[in-house]
Amino acid sequence: DGLPPFVNESMLDLTIPANRTGFVNAIADVRGKAGGVIPLFIGGKDVTTDDTIASTNPAKPAEVIARVCQGGKPEVDAAIEAAQKAFPAWRDTSPADRAMFLHRAADIARRRMFELSAWQVLEVGKQWDQAFHDVGEGIDFLDYYAHEMLRLGAPRRMGRAPGELNHLFYQPKGIAAVIAPWNFPFAIAIGMAAAAIVTGNPVIFKPSSIASRIGYNLTEIFREAGLPEGVFNYVPGRSSVMGDYLVEHPQVSMICFTGSMEVGLRIQEKAAVVQPGQMQCKRVIAEMGGKNAIIIDDDADLDEAVLQVLNSAFGFQGQKCSACSRVIVLDPIYDRFVERLVKAAQAIKIGPSEDPANYMGPVADASLQKNILEYVKVAEQEGKVLVKRTDIPAEGCYVPLTIVEGIKPHHRIAQEEIFGPVLAVMRAGSFDEALAIANGTRFALTGGVFSRSPENLAKARRDFRVGNLYLNRGSTGAMVERQPFGGFKMSGVGSKTGGPDYLLQFMDPRCVTENT
Ligand code: NAD
Repeated sequence: DGLPPFVNESMLDLTIPANRTGFVNAIADVRGKAGGVIPLFIGGKDVTTDDTIASTNPAKPAEVIARVCQGGKPEVDAAIEAAQKAFPAWRDTSPADRAMFLHRAADIARRRMFELSAWQVLEVGKQWDQAFHDVGEGIDFLDYYAHEMLRLGAPRRMGRAPGELNHLFYQPKGIAAVIAPWNFPFAIAIGMAAAAIVTGNPVIFKPSSIASRIGYNLTEIFREAGLPEGVFNYVPGRSSVMGDYLVEHPQVSMICFTGSMEVGLRIQEKAAVVQPGQMQCKRVIAEMGGKNAIIIDDDADLDEAVLQVLNSAFGFQGQKCSACSRVIVLDPIYDRFVERLVKAAQAIKIGPSEDPANYMGPVADASLQKNILEYVKVAEQEGKVLVKRTDIPAEGCYVPLTIVEGIKPHHRIAQEEIFGPVLAVMRAGSFDEALAIANGTRFALTGGVFSRSPENLAKARRDFRVGNLYLNRGSTGAMVERQPFGGFKMSGVGSKTGGPDYLLQFMDPRCVTENT
């Protein structure tokens, strides 16, 4: 099919000196470019507006990373007009040609790997290795969806009845609004956009205001890849001004959203109301939050479990939808596990993510910091604090790494997504009780179990009802193709990203029967 076989991008290896200098140089280089005005990109052209938002470095709030022009209703209208114009030709471009654009985009991103990672270090406070992995995942999405489109692009003969010829094939749905979060600011944004584009749908991309400069990386990449005008449009804007307008627009055929449950539910509600002039039912794909648990069985390997729980709970400051926010520990092993967990958490190095020696950095923005600090107070009221790291930099969006015990299933800390480095320790009398606690929230995204008992692992396979379950492994770090990612219940609607069903959601199936 002309594409090299799909292989996941590799992780960052900092034992290689070129990688260390590559990163240091890229951060300096990006810092040199920071602070500029970033335009919108509509119909293949830069568009500036008078209204801008300054995106800042959460470790040093005085450092402006970019001043991003904000689109309003007129810009949404212009982008939709450009997308409509582009649609017929893009729809009729062959799947193989569309896939080639993704392949080209992946090559461009690969060439810019360090630089793309450096933007994340500075704009959202992501650690080097995590930023590198995010960009790698974005490249994986581009390559994987290119292959997937080739697989799905050919009409499929159905049935073998004599005298008739049946063909099943797919057409794009129309204009896709792609609404992205800030936490995997490259991977998730480019993954959603790439899926829409390769299936033949022009995109209106709205990044999060916390990561709009990183969002502009998509514009740079698709522009260099030579995507036809109007197929990819970059429209950052205040969600209070243009969010509902974009979702409700009668010409938008689908909304591909990743973010919080609250916003996801609002989008589903708005998209369900038919607007004057609207010609089709809108499809909403909404990947939403999590309240993920890891169960520690009484025979668990604690060397592994402690390390992986810390990674899952505090990696990127707990700001992952897959992050572990509840650890459910069986009674017989409770004291031993908690003692080691606490010691290890106290040893974590906290400081700017720019310095790779720091394991935990600032949270991405001051409003998030405020929200997490509120939850730390709730944790102190509901449970007993085991760790509260107040030895954190005074300047920047830092919050204390917090671990509390004594949390019961009905507590807010056991039920609400905090999206920060706050971990609840819960005690269970049996493996069955641990499973019941784990399943006892509105969410069903990821989960983990550490156990040496084949019987309990089998039970978890069957009864731990989450989208992505990891046995003897932490709950974060899904890889494209290997672990198709996504949940159900209030964790979202839609099929798994990086998996074989994902692209089908961006298309309508047609069947043509010929009487021969
Ligand atoms: P968010 O819901 O605050 O924002 C997501 C996007 O929606 C942003 O671009 C925002 O500007 C936009 N938005 C806000 N209001 C809108 C409106 N009324 N209409 C249209 N768009 C609107 O989420 P966030 O803080 O950016 O991201 C964190 C959340 O994302 C967490 O809840 C996390 O669990 C979730 N998440 C889920 C997955 C997954 O795959 N399930 C992956 C990553 C993040």
